[in-house]
Amino acid sequence: AHAPKPKTWFDGELIESDALQAGLTTHAMHYGSGVFEGIRAYATADGGAAVFRLPEHLERMRKGANLLGLAFDPAQVTEAVLATLRANGHRDAYIRPLAWFGEGSFGLDVEGHVPHMMVATTATQVHLNGTRARLGVSCWRRNPADSLPPLKLCGAYVNSILAKREAKSRGFDEAMFTDRAGNVVECTGANLFMVKDGNIVAIEHPDALPGITRDSLLALTGATSRMATLEELLDADEVFACGTAAEVAPISQVEEREYGTNPVTRAIAAHYQRVVRGEDASYRHWLTAV
Ligand code: PMP
Repeated sequence: AHAPKPKTWFDGELIESDALQAGLTTHAMHYGSGVFEGIRAYATADGGAAVFRLPEHLERMRKGANLLGLAFDPAQVTEAVLATLRANGHRDAYIRPLAWFGEGSFGLDVEGHVPHMMVATTATQVHLNGTRARLGVSCWRRNPADSLPPLKLCGAYVNSILAKREAKSRGFDEAMFTDRAGNVVECTGANLFMVKDGNIVAIEHPDALPGITRDSLLALTGATSRMATLEELLDADEVFACGTAAEVAPISQVEEREYGTNPVTRAIAAHYQRVVRGEDASYRHWLTAV
């Protein structure tokens, strides 16, 4: 028996992923006029699977779509996400919805370009939250919110790509953005927390993406949300990054500053794993059954 070919939901239908192509005049490819999400599904103890905080992810995507003038129906995308997971037999999975402007002229106006929507899913490895990342402080600034709002607009991620390339070229795993006043913003695809004397602080910044993992951890830990300087972060006992893909990732180093074994981070990471898998009854309302 051969495995069924992976399928992608595209404009209302499940199609073999291999059969899909985008045209060379795709507006989003030239100008970044698209919006995406990064969502996860987890295998649950009952043998099924559930999507973590699906309505919240789709609400954020709707905001980005509205800004660009892309039609967006959360009910339709919910069905698309569930149908794609089922078609691919995925339980532990990363889910990538993307809405974008397709073929048309080379003009900037989105009018006259065909809007498209896709949902792809890929199986994720059950990883142990053990990888400790080393962060370089970026020489690039995060897109300021008054130039580009912190939403998952495709074009906005060029900023993340530049920062990640620069950090990696200096031997780090990931980049951390600070603003001109020395405040911490976020990473290229994750938010930041710090722990000092047992107090947990969720780093807040107007230019940072309002992360859904960050919001979940605020609820789980009762952390304080506030702005913080790089100086404070370097003085903290523990630092961790969080995001849908990163989950709860202990940071081992920021530039030359090395952190210890991150015991508080590890406890939070373990609790987060129970929550996303439906093992904590208090947070089952965050799960959408597949
Ligand atoms: N910041 C950025 C720039 C991101 O791309 C992400 C990933 N979506 C996050 C933070 C974390 O957000 P979330 O927890 O909603 O995945």
